[in-house]
Amino acid sequence: MRETGRRPVRRAFHEDDGGFTTVGMVLALLVSLALLFSAAKVYKINSVAADVQNVADAAALAAENQVASFYIVAQVCDAVVLSLSLTSAVTAGAGAVALCIPGGQTVASRLLDASADIARARQRFAEEAADRLNALQNLLPYFAALQASQVARANDDGVARYFGIAFLAPEAGASIDFGSIDEATQAIDDLRARQDQVAQAAERADAASKEAQESKERAWRADCGNAPGYCMYERAGKLAGLSGARNPRFSSADTWSFSVALERARAYYAERAAHEQPQGDSVDEQANSALRARFYAYAVRELKSAYVRDAGDSFEAFLPVLPANTDEMRATSLFAERVYPVTAAEDGTCTMHAWAGCPACAGARQAGTGSVAELEAGGFAVCPECAFTPASLGSVAAASTSIGNGFEHWYRIVAEEAGVYARARAEADAAKREVQGPIESFTQIMGDVTKQAASQRIEVAPPGSVGAVAIVADVHEVAASDLFPSSFVSQPTALGARAALSAATLARDDSSETETVITSLLDGVDADAAGIAGAPKLVLSLWSRLLGAYTQGHDALLDAVRQIGDALPIKKGSSGLGTWAAQKIEAFVTDAGFEPAELAAWKPVTVNSWHVVGADGSKPMTAIAQAKRIGAHIRPTEQNPLRAAIDLNADFVTEEFDQRSSQEIEIARIQLFGEGGPSVPLSITLPEPLRSAGHDGIQRAREALKSLVAREEEVEPWA
Ligand SMILES: [Zn+2]
Repeated sequence: MRETGRRPVRRAFHEDDGGFTTVGMVLALLVSLALLFSAAKVYKINSVAADVQNVADAAALAAENQVASFYIVAQVCDAVVLSLSLTSAVTAGAGAVALCIPGGQTVASRLLDASADIARARQRFAEEAADRLNALQNLLPYFAALQASQVARANDDGVARYFGIAFLAPEAGASIDFGSIDEATQAIDDLRARQDQVAQAAERADAASKEAQESKERAWRADCGNAPGYCMYERAGKLAGLSGARNPRFSSADTWSFSVALERARAYYAERAAHEQPQGDSVDEQANSALRARFYAYAVRELKSAYVRDAGDSFEAFLPVLPANTDEMRATSLFAERVYPVTAAEDGTCTMHAWAGCPACAGARQAGTGSVAELEAGGFAVCPECAFTPASLGSVAAASTSIGNGFEHWYRIVAEEAGVYARARAEADAAKREVQGPIESFTQIMGDVTKQAASQRIEVAPPGSVGAVAIVADVHEVAASDLFPSSFVSQPTALGARAALSAATLARDDSSETETVITSLLDGVDADAAGIAGAPKLVLSLWSRLLGAYTQGHDALLDAVRQIGDALPIKKGSSGLGTWAAQKIEAFVTDAGFEPAELAAWKPVTVNSWHVVGADGSKPMTAIAQAKRIGAHIRPTEQNPLRAAIDLNADFVTEEFDQRSSQEIEIARIQLFGEGGPSVPLSITLPEPLRSAGHDGIQRAREALKSLVAREEEVEPWA
């Protein structure tokens, strides 16, 4: 009995000697991929009774298995390319966020450097991998032919002598290209070049924002934050009986606005102006009440022109400061308004009164009205009754402004803070714009690149993506000397040879092999052991997560973004720029609409050969189709379609693996953080038969098959 059965398959990623611990060894795990390009033995027929059709089936499966393996290798490369693109983008995004946060520049600088490194590593890997994958897929017809030949030979025994060959449809693959992320690299470099400027603006924005916040906090306390203690809210309730929507209370400065205080002041003075009454009958009190009414009316007028405009990215406010003494009063319209009654004595002496109800006005000759300015300019006697002087009016709000039980005291704080706040906000807003401009265009570009990277998977259509056709013949009665071209026509002996044709194509395989290979890619990378710390360690861990995102899609990607945000050793600043930038980064990740990659593994299955030969318009397949049609009636002519197919196939199987001495084909190397950083080679090892056999084996099979179809004897019909 023949040696049969599968070679024990080593578990992926676990070497017998105890696993991988160093970076350099990690991707040697991809050695397991070698098993996918597995040897002929796997397809050795487990029966002495294997007939030529069984062997042809096995040969077709083995040939197509090369194609299945290629898909996995290509997908691993795609995962590496995409995850590196995303790692670079997310790291750069985190760098941009850090740049917006006070004290974050050092971290930002490291992250931006790391992202630029990753972008370069990605680009280099993408170029190398595309080159090698294209070279590798050019070898597939050769591997397939060789595998078919090996499988046929492996099933030889004392009786049967098999020769086989395989054809792939299509013969040539589509060129593989991972595209470039040059735009992102440029954007990262641009931001790195401007990082000092951006960070300084962010610091200014933060300092000014802090100042603005403190000012707002003080204003809020004066308006309603002090409640139930003295404040505008409390005073408006007590002194003017305001309540409800006219006298609202806010529990925090964050939700409060200067416009709240403005509306409250408007309501308060309107109320006071409407209901001002003397508190007693004395002339003094009546005079004061009249002057208070002037003051309230003035406040109502002034507050009409007041405004608060907070557009989020700009702030303007005008809250008039009401006069608290005579000096301040001189600068207002109260000083100039000509509303005070003047009486003239018989001797021509004129007297100005606080109000028309002054007892001294009664019966006196009215001489029009005057202003406080005129009163101060002189020429008026002081009224013995109401004793009206400029200070009478100047002092109306003096007490209520200077002590806490006056509404004016608290309003004045708010009005003054509005000015402080507006200046700080203007400075903060200007500095923010200096930050937001570059960051905005940066996130825009990174967003576009991420979107593109997330949506564009490599198109893999290698030779054999439609299928493989194997032709196997049992030539056991043929003398070895007959298998060479010089002799195959000259000795027309009846041989009883048998030939069979089989086809295989790829079917979806439910195994999670591809996913396991991808998600385990970095399992063995021990950052600590490799001496990787700080930002690069963070980036390495990010990359590991993003490899997971390749298989899991958007949510995993967003998680990775948030985790790196949480991992940053920097605090949120006052300007809100960090939060703003973090939202931008999250937004571009969300907008990328990243879907998990299609990770189905493929396995070869036999299929009616019409499906393969009919689906491909290549000359060899057309020739095989023709040979199939002729069926049992193949004649030994030069035009025999099968001979033509074999010859045509020979044109394609010209590539020969040129690294026979080498154990591995290095697809590409991931070189992180420059020459001194961890280096991760992505290699596959070809099984021994592929390394040791060469064109000779294929050539012999080819000649054997040609000699067979050159004979007069009919071969048996094909399945
Ligand atoms: Zn008077």
